[in-house]
Amino acid sequence: MENIRQSERLNKLPPYLFFEIDKLKNKARQGGRDIIDLGVGDPDRPPPKFICDALCEALKDPNIHRYAFDLGQPEFRAAVSKWYKKRFNVELDPEKEVLPLIGSKEGIAHVPLAFVNPRDWVLVPEPCYPPYKSGSLFAGANIEIMPLIEKNSFLPDLSAVKKASKARLMFINYPNNPTAAVAGLDFFQAVVDFAEKNNIIVCHDAAYSELAFDGVSRPASFLAAEGAKAVGIEFHSLSKTFNMTGWRIGFACGNADIIAGLAKVKSNIDSGIFNAIQRAGVAALNTETDHLENMNQLYKERRDALIDGLASIGWKINKPKATFYVWAAVPKAYNSMGLSQRLLEDADIVVTPGVGFGKNGEGYVRFALTVPTDTLKEAVKRIGKVL
Ligand SMILES: *Cc1c(COP(=O)(O)O)cnc(C)c1O
Repeated sequence: MENIRQSERLNKLPPYLFFEIDKLKNKARQGGRDIIDLGVGDPDRPPPKFICDALCEALKDPNIHRYAFDLGQPEFRAAVSKWYKKRFNVELDPEKEVLPLIGSKEGIAHVPLAFVNPRDWVLVPEPCYPPYKSGSLFAGANIEIMPLIEKNSFLPDLSAVKKASKARLMFINYPNNPTAAVAGLDFFQAVVDFAEKNNIIVCHDAAYSELAFDGVSRPASFLAAEGAKAVGIEFHSLSKTFNMTGWRIGFACGNADIIAGLAKVKSNIDSGIFNAIQRAGVAALNTETDHLENMNQLYKERRDALIDGLASIGWKINKPKATFYVWAAVPKAYNSMGLSQRLLEDADIVVTPGVGFGKNGEGYVRFALTVPTDTLKEAVKRIGKVL
């Protein structure tokens, strides 16, 4: 074929602004430079050993290698329901209100296909995790951006939404990537009321619910707001909670009809999560350990090393109370891409330019605390030499 043409839906995707940084990073690595990568949100530590042991054990079962059920193992759904009750005091019917996912990204990208018709509106916060936009665009939706700005504590201003009456679905995400903001139950309650009034499905992404410190060690579930289960679902993931990003296991839970719609899309596209991984997921959710406490202590130590270090060279940044990100307003002489390029070229440090998360990310860069404390201290030294 002479001319392989991509679909309109692919052409509609926003430009991939991390491309420039990726290119520079690869070039620097090929040139043998010692790059400190604070760009990727991917835990550097392995999962707790008992989870890996559970996977190894599961692999010995000769019956575990076949196709998984579309709706996931009953044992995994039961473990989710039990964990939700214990962690959030939210009741979930494991049969109808829990759906295992091949990582939460998969469910996030697929859910608009179940509920959004071409030209319906979807409300997307920005800066944001990219699949909220790409999943909506694949469903043919129009997107209204809800800007997350510092003045509003990085919460969307629901009273400023213009297409409320035409919107079918909205995404929210707290603790938030990339801003690291936390939302309380009062905000979730306002979202429930807004969604109920306007008939909008709420999809709350809670991937970072277990990564928090400084007195907000227990971020709330959206489903704990009154009436939430009538309007929405929540996405969770074992990726960040248990350092299992490569395993691909997460889940959606909440409203049974929304779960059923998403399950219908998925049953036509995928064939479930490898059963051995689901079995290890059961062990992860069911086992009481000090893993979370230790992990959060580690991220907090890294956060303090980075932010206290940067403060000592004159770059003042607020300390986040959750996630493993630091969302830093860039010094005046720069924009987000300019600073990211400067840090890579002159300090061999990769950070993520805020504008890569959408226009409303301009003026910020995101640091990921997924390297050891000593490496962060070295990064501070290098940044001090160029700023
Ligand atoms: C990392 C992340 C996820 C989790 O993705 P998985 O597909 O479960 O690995 C979801 N949402 C946000 C905002 C994230 O940063």
